[in-house]
Amino acid sequence: MNFKIPGGSGMTSARTRTRLVERLRSAGIANEDVLAVIGEVPRHIFVDEALAHRAYDDVSLPIGHNQTISQPYIVARMTELVLGGPGRARMLEIGTGCGYQTTVLAQFYKTVHSIERIGGLARGARERLVELGVHNVRLRHGDGSRGQPEAAPFDAIMITAAAPIVPEQLVDQLAIGGRLVFPVGVEEQELRMIERLDDGYAETRLEKVRFVPLLPGVA
Ligand code: SAH
Repeated sequence: MNFKIPGGSGMTSARTRTRLVERLRSAGIANEDVLAVIGEVPRHIFVDEALAHRAYDDVSLPIGHNQTISQPYIVARMTELVLGGPGRARMLEIGTGCGYQTTVLAQFYKTVHSIERIGGLARGARERLVELGVHNVRLRHGDGSRGQPEAAPFDAIMITAAAPIVPEQLVDQLAIGGRLVFPVGVEEQELRMIERLDDGYAETRLEKVRFVPLLPGVA
């Protein structure tokens, strides 16, 4: 990867990013390729300038429209999980937000399809991807809750907003061995992974998480 935006100095320096990577490693992120990408993607580009000094803290931050940029730990964790799938050809992300997770995924997959329901966020994400020279993302403004059957099968699907119930219909859009990683729940949420098998699927319950809700329709 080769991002067009230089790291800058001070709060956005290489040292600040290295510290974030160290923190994620000690929090249990084991995939060194994922850690390397987190260390290189300029997260400060995805938040308002006034919050840039916190961009390399391991926290979620507001991005407007009542939405957030995910915590780096959770971005790394979910990326690590989907990468265990059968290939690196096609991936679907539901909930682009500012496009940070999308940019991380785009370093691993040949094509990333990403859907965002809020027009203003989709536009902002599109601009940032161009600015960063990320060209393998197909970004769509729309309701992603039913996935994108016309582009299936996917090696992996990631939902970055919490569904109230397990979105079982998305499993059909996975390749065999493909992984769907998503938060589920309303007040109490947990991360789950569904793996598509030859005959049916296997579900794994993972850690407690906190995401904005998956909402219907577009805005
Ligand atoms: N992936 C982001 C996190 C975005 S927050 C990151 O890198 O930080 C979750 C996003 O999901 C919000 O932008 C929200 O608008 C979007 N979202 C919620 N419901 C959706 C739906 N049904 N279809 C598409 N996007 C949705």
